[in-house]
Amino acid sequence: MRRVAIVVLALLCVTDGVQFGQLCSGNARNRRRTSDSWGAGHFGAPRVTRTHRGLDIVCADGATVYAPFDVTINRKVIVYIDPTKAAINNGLKLTGGGLCFKLFYIQPDKTSGTVKKGNRLGTMLPMQQVYPGITSHVHVQMCDNSDPTPYF
Ligand code: ZN
Repeated sequence: MRRVAIVVLALLCVTDGVQFGQLCSGNARNRRRTSDSWGAGHFGAPRVTRTHRGLDIVCADGATVYAPFDVTINRKVIVYIDPTKAAINNGLKLTGGGLCFKLFYIQPDKTSGTVKKGNRLGTMLPMQQVYPGITSHVHVQMCDNSDPTPYF
């Protein structure tokens, strides 16, 4: 019994400490979008008709997006219905690090299979074309819509 308890405790500790690795080239520490003319990048930030359900990590248009864990790619994600935002309407749903999450605004290299931590997932899409002057960023959203901030 004691051995089981120790194993369970060890697993809990691993899950508690899980942290995203570098997501974007040029942003080694996963610096977050703060505030710009389009809004703020933190979880729960106000939007016109809702609140922001993710955390925005700074990423220049055209930069390389990396796998933050050893990940499995579940599928491609459609971000918008609005056709005026087609230039950035792409992303991925992933599992890795014991987490399920989505990354928005990236052109994926592939939409299935696995990618090792630190290897390419794709390329940051041209966000300035859709939101001129915004701090271009990858949007990180947990599959259960919980706050991703503790993992950064
Ligand atoms: Zn966002």
